[in-house]
Amino acid sequence: RVTDPKDSPGSTQAEVNTDEVSIARVYDFCLGGKDNFAVDRAAAQAMMEVVPETPLLAQVNRCFLRQAVRYLAGEAGIDQIIDIGSGLPTAGNVHEIAQEKNPDARVVYVDNDPVVLAHARALLATDANTTVISADLREPDVIFGHPETRRLIDTSRPFAILLGGILMHLEDEEDPEGIAANLRDRLPAGGHLLVSNTCDTGEPRAAELARVFAENGMGTRCFRTWDEQIRYFDGLELVEPGLVPNNEWRPAGDVPDPDNPAHALHIGGLGRKVR
Ligand code: SAM
Repeated sequence: RVTDPKDSPGSTQAEVNTDEVSIARVYDFCLGGKDNFAVDRAAAQAMMEVVPETPLLAQVNRCFLRQAVRYLAGEAGIDQIIDIGSGLPTAGNVHEIAQEKNPDARVVYVDNDPVVLAHARALLATDANTTVISADLREPDVIFGHPETRRLIDTSRPFAILLGGILMHLEDEEDPEGIAANLRDRLPAGGHLLVSNTCDTGEPRAAELARVFAENGMGTRCFRTWDEQIRYFDGLELVEPGLVPNNEWRPAGDVPDPDNPAHALHIGGLGRKVR
């Protein structure tokens, strides 16, 4: 176990368990990062045995995220973003992309993994307009009541909430639809919600990959259907092209292996609150 006392402003120490699979670290491995342990690499290998394109899906999810953030900070004029389940720092972090379009853009990164927190503090919270908090998607009041969120996000003005690859890790009992609704309700007119997740396309390998996610403690409902996931956007207007495979969302030409049919297994979309 690695402990980092810096992450424990109270009495409890944040602990990094190197024996248990971490979603953030598996994802980091798939993106070619180095912040992962043997247990995470073994989980990723098991995924790649059933779907060799698993790393491709992670990489293209980042392509989608980058494009959506460019759209938000550019065309949509959004200058405040809350990225929930932000993951480990990687190439093209949300604040870097947003600040390329608008140097004044503010970003609050949120994650519940202590490894993310430790790395993110060093690498993401590099300016006064960017911060990182340790909080859980299942507790939106904690996220929105956090002093750092209140410092950087004016919820009376349009802002965006990013849920990249996170709702999929919630069980049905944890009510992902209810949580999405709770977050949508917090958006003022002009606010945006981004969602991306793995998708149950009905093909056998989707079910097989879902089984490997579950066996590795990453959630038993990681693969929901498009029909289930479109409900996350209830009441919002979908930004074109809608909820689509990540490679099809306004691709910038940086999508690797763009015609691979595996792309159908990971979908994403962006919704805008009209009023
Ligand atoms: N959002 C990034 C992206 O789309 O590229 C990273 C996605 S990664 C697959 C999912 C992240 O969500 C991980 O960093 C994990 O620690 C975090 N996460 C999972 N469940 C969470 C929860 N209940 N609350 C906060 N973060 C969570």
